[in-house]
Amino acid sequence: MSTLAGHSVSPAKARLRGVVFDMDGTLTVPVIDFPAMYCSVLGENEYNRVKAENPSGIDILHHIEKWSPEKQKKAYQIIADFERQGLERLQIMPGAAELCGFLDSKKIRRGLITRNVKESVDLFHERFGVTFSPALSREFRPCKPDPAPLLHICSTWEVQPTEVMMVGDSLKDDVACGKRAGAFTCLLDEKGRYDSPHLANLDLQPDFKVSSLTEVCSLLESKFDLTP
Ligand SMILES: [Mg+2]
Repeated sequence: MSTLAGHSVSPAKARLRGVVFDMDGTLTVPVIDFPAMYCSVLGENEYNRVKAENPSGIDILHHIEKWSPEKQKKAYQIIADFERQGLERLQIMPGAAELCGFLDSKKIRRGLITRNVKESVDLFHERFGVTFSPALSREFRPCKPDPAPLLHICSTWEVQPTEVMMVGDSLKDDVACGKRAGAFTCLLDEKGRYDSPHLANLDLQPDFKVSSLTEVCSLLESKFDLTP
């Protein structure tokens, strides 16, 4: 292929047609004390053992999957209690409303995938007046890190996973889900908790990393083709 003299040709930027967000810790300020929740579900000894075996984080839903129905029921009650307490203190993440406005101005779709329950998503939508669609909660199985919810959203939107970015604060859930689906991934790491050396050696790495949602607008503008 020839190019016109005098025109510099830069590599084509990937087209972006949708962004899918995690909810807790990404669109909302973390209010659920997950270590306390895991400890309460598993008991202190088991929690310490499981934590040591899973340095990048505990998948509590997966962990309790094989328990007896009775034990599971109790575990889900504890989880629901922590989630309910979290809801009372729910706050929108700084930069989230601005980012939604930016995406709307570019006609880029917004979706949501959470391992929290539908009731929490409804409350989030209600309280902050921004809507994500589709918004898939724990009731949609399999949950993240399985790529199924993200692939479901892509097919609903009729876009390719390669035209979508998954944004979330969890490497093992959000980034893993995005990668497995074949989407771009952006890790929100407000406190630099993923900077530790043993995590840098993990196979799982996001395409982008930001320390606030405010950074996402300029990231999208510089790295992607945002024309509708
Ligand atoms: Mg999260």
